[in-house]
Amino acid sequence: MENVVIVGSGISGLTAAIYAARANLEPIVLTGVAENGGQLMLTTEVENFPGFPDGVQGPDLIMKLQDQAKKFGAKLVQEDATGFEQVDGGYKVTAGDSTFEAKSIIISTGASARWLGLESEQKFKGRGVSTCATCDAYFYKDKEVIVVGGGDSMAEEGLFLTKFASKVIVVHRRDEFRASKIMQDRVMNHEKIEVVWDTEIDEILGEQTVNAVKLKNVKTGEITEKKIDGVFLAIGHIPNTKIFDGKIDLDEQGYVKTDRRMRTNLPGVFACGDVQDTIYKQAVTAAGSGCQAAIEAEKFVENIE
Ligand code: NAP
Repeated sequence: MENVVIVGSGISGLTAAIYAARANLEPIVLTGVAENGGQLMLTTEVENFPGFPDGVQGPDLIMKLQDQAKKFGAKLVQEDATGFEQVDGGYKVTAGDSTFEAKSIIISTGASARWLGLESEQKFKGRGVSTCATCDAYFYKDKEVIVVGGGDSMAEEGLFLTKFASKVIVVHRRDEFRASKIMQDRVMNHEKIEVVWDTEIDEILGEQTVNAVKLKNVKTGEITEKKIDGVFLAIGHIPNTKIFDGKIDLDEQGYVKTDRRMRTNLPGVFACGDVQDTIYKQAVTAAGSGCQAAIEAEKFVENIE
């Protein structure tokens, strides 16, 4: 039986891995395949991570954390966790054909992009509809795109898209943004960005790829059609807790419930990062909670020995 299995490899999971490895727990990290490295892998410049006055690229930060975790003895296994259950003396996590049993589990599975829920968005997924500007902006050189949302992700994605697209139209369902002031100012003052308030996407239209959208003004109900080459969604995230549903206490939105010490309702199972954070969702808070979870896991393992 392992000491600790860490499920998820974003900044919280890797920070937990560094701490657990330095405590000689020889942690196993199930990194996931498609989402290996978490949301920072889909980001460009991170400007607010302490210690980097000139900013740091999200993927570079993750690579450094991976190296740091491995240096201290963490074992990174590139598999998706597919099952979780309680066993005698601990817990079992299934990943592909492998199973891992451990005295303690740290859940750091993060959150994935939210979709609008339109049938047409699924039809054009990867063919004009994207949730990752960092990944797909390049395909929209000199084209017109829409970014949906009103938070920091909208601002970040929208500003990044201006480097490629000829015009970026931000479509937001309310008449004010929730993004931080500095990001709002950058959006509002950018010559390539136009903001359409009080509006939702009603339908995405096209043949092989997207060529237009139907926009609905939520105040008047008026529907207009707008020619567009691409739609980027930046409307928040949903916690990745499917394998824990019914086995660990989750809140009504699916986030893992934790106390101030990152403990879940199951002894020895801790959670950190965006999978349990309904408030801050910052790289630095995710890292901090990863540290807390690992210290708690260390104490837990020590106490049962
Ligand atoms: P967010 O702050 O939750 O914003 C989501 C936005 O999408 C909101 O404006 C929301 O509208 C809108 N929205 C949600 N569901 C929608 C729907 N079905 N249809 C249309 N619009 C919808 O999410 P986020 O921007 O991804 O940010 C998440 C967290 O990460 C935040 O704490 C943020 O500060 C942080 N973050 C920080 C940075 C940075 O510091 N550089 C970058 C990215 C993210 P309403 O406003 O009407 O609710």
